[in-house]
Amino acid sequence: MTAETMSIDTLVIGAGQAGVAMSEHLSKAGVQHLVLERSRIAERWRSARWDSLVANGPAWHDRFPNLEFAGDPDGFPGKEQVADYFVAYAQQFNAPIRTGVEVTGVTRNEGRPGFSVETSDGTITANRVVVATGPFQRPVIPPIAPRDASIKQLHSADYRNPAQLPDGAVLVVGAGSSGTQIADELRRAGRTVYLSVGAHDRPPRSYRNRDFCWWLGVLGEWDKEVATPGREHVTIAVSGAYGGKTIDFRRLAHEGMTLVGLTKSFENGVVSFEQDLAANLKRGDENLLSLLDAADAYVARTGIDLPAEPTARDIPPDPECVTHPLRELDLAKANVNTIIWATGYAVDFSWLHVDAFDEKGKPKHQRGVSKEPGIYFLGLPWLSRRGSSFIWGVWHDAKHIADHIVTQHKYLDYRDASQRKDDAQRTQLHDPRHGSDLSHALGTNEQGVI
Ligand SMILES: Cc1cc2nc3c(=O)[nH]c(=O)nc-3n(C[C@H](O)[C@H](O)[C@H](O)COP(=O)(O)OP(=O)(O)OC[C@H]3O[C@@H](n4cnc5c(N)ncnc54)[C@H](O)[C@@H]3O)c2cc1C
Repeated sequence: MTAETMSIDTLVIGAGQAGVAMSEHLSKAGVQHLVLERSRIAERWRSARWDSLVANGPAWHDRFPNLEFAGDPDGFPGKEQVADYFVAYAQQFNAPIRTGVEVTGVTRNEGRPGFSVETSDGTITANRVVVATGPFQRPVIPPIAPRDASIKQLHSADYRNPAQLPDGAVLVVGAGSSGTQIADELRRAGRTVYLSVGAHDRPPRSYRNRDFCWWLGVLGEWDKEVATPGREHVTIAVSGAYGGKTIDFRRLAHEGMTLVGLTKSFENGVVSFEQDLAANLKRGDENLLSLLDAADAYVARTGIDLPAEPTARDIPPDPECVTHPLRELDLAKANVNTIIWATGYAVDFSWLHVDAFDEKGKPKHQRGVSKEPGIYFLGLPWLSRRGSSFIWGVWHDAKHIADHIVTQHKYLDYRDASQRKDDAQRTQLHDPRHGSDLSHALGTNEQGVI
């Protein structure tokens, strides 16, 4: 059946981890549905990440409940392995996913239920639409980016490997997980690297024989429903690269990287930095130490037998670039030929013509159930809690949405007293014990349809 002729109960848009999880729960609940994916399953893991990326969480943690990764559960699967995992997962329950079909518009029907969905393969009518198009859709480069054509500028979403860049030094702006890993890879490849470090959290990779994902789990941090006020835009620097190491900016500096403060502006080939590097590092240290404190308190309270690890609190001395931070850098003199913007992403719902947004254009929803009946969001950061945009977290949010859809079905299936009476009469007509005489008496045709 082509999309042109199709009508469906629930349409899921996007077959990343969110779409696959949604399909599993809808399948289990017996809800008729279809998943449309414009490219391939888990495409962003394949083509919107750099070559050497490995998962930020260990294999035992960053997965769905009903399938384990092959290999070491404490290892960090590569990005292709993660994508293959979701393909295998979808195959496991024969998910109804159609790849290569892009949704270009969703409009609420007037005077009849549901939505008209325009796709690259025709129009679909759907009673419900689950938007699972990703938490990180549109790479964002801030307006301060220079217009100097002689410098190659790219977003971290377009970075692949060091060989892709022109020779020379590199300025990496943004020191979350992406920026820090890319900067480290470039430095290891022999590049001169300047890393612009803003406010960040940097949890320990592991502590007392437990990965930080485990600590966030037992300490209830993954379940936090809202970001700490004032820290909504603080990035988190964590990595599974090279077997998984705590990100330590001072160590990176001692190994040869130049750390600078927040990138402020570009003028005539000169970039200026805020003088906030030491303060940003200090707050990052505080974040690390607060997690160690919380972990120690948990061990003390529960009596759980985990070995002490006092060296986790060691902080290297401040390197020269921290004690005497650069205020500005002449890009040409420093031979900086590339700027990589590891500055995050935005979402784009311009194709979603429904009443599901607030006055600032942000999705308005409660745990993914939007204010427009029948429209659901899945996979957004903090959709229900901190874990929502991560692999394991989205699976639980998808279950909540599937439950909501099933409950809505129950309401719509409700029949009032007179309808139930009609239903009973029809059942009698169909009941073979009443024979065909009664049908004839009521003027029905051979199929029993009145
Ligand atoms: C660099 C990086 C590393 C990360 N590492 C981890 C990690 O280690 N562990 C972890 O748990 N999380 C990680 N995340 C966070 C999160 O898991 C990923 O962003 C993940 O890709 C989100 O999955 P998703 O299904 O919600 O969205 P996406 O993977 O973005 O999937 C959305 C899908 O929708 C499709 N689509 C979009 N628009 C349309 C349309 N109009 N019509 C049809 N299809 C459409 C896209 O092609 C895409 O396949 C990472 C994120 C980034 C950026």
